[in-house]
Amino acid sequence: MSAERAPGVRDGPVYVATTNAHKAQEIAAILASTGLDIRPAPDLPEVVEDGETFRANAILKARSAAAALGAPALADDSGLAVEVLDGAPGVHSARYAGENATDDDNNALLVERLTALGVEDPAAAFVCVVVIALPDGTIVAQAEGRVEGVLRWPALGAGGFGYDPYFFHPPSGCRLSELAPEAKNAVSHRGQALRKLAASL
Ligand code: IMP
Repeated sequence: MSAERAPGVRDGPVYVATTNAHKAQEIAAILASTGLDIRPAPDLPEVVEDGETFRANAILKARSAAAALGAPALADDSGLAVEVLDGAPGVHSARYAGENATDDDNNALLVERLTALGVEDPAAAFVCVVVIALPDGTIVAQAEGRVEGVLRWPALGAGGFGYDPYFFHPPSGCRLSELAPEAKNAVSHRGQALRKLAASL
């Protein structure tokens, strides 16, 4: 999927539909060059993220927020796709080990499944899709970013979150969790998706 042109998002604020303040700040910083009035969304309705693709879930979140706020809303959805697991954990990345799973729970299950398969350096990719929806549901911009690597264990590094301590990024020569935040943004799926989106606006 490539980034697309976006009319109608310059008439007022564009709200970032996430409850994660860190993510909202990161998104606002990357989109600063667009001149858009990017703001964190106030209280958002709960969204059941039951889409089968990252794009479907990003659209669900953006449409729900835009309808509730009566203004354009931006949302992203992301996760880890592992080749030998047929793309899992995929859209279930946040809840791979169950509804209330922690990052540690998810990582433990991932390592258990990969160890059982006996594969060395299994290929994996982090994928992020970001979209902007208008209150009537129209998707006016969308972009996808992807970073390829291999999974290694045990965990290394103290930065990042989620599956980062297990994700070895060959061009960087280390795990994503060993990169400074700016260095991770420069290569990450989310950074790439947002820069593509910014370029299209
Ligand atoms: P969401 O897009 O914020 O819902 O993220 C879904 C899940 O994917 C997170 O809970 C993490 O488990 C995983 N994930 C997404 N992006 C990253 C990343 O940059 N590093 C590590 N894990 C990630």
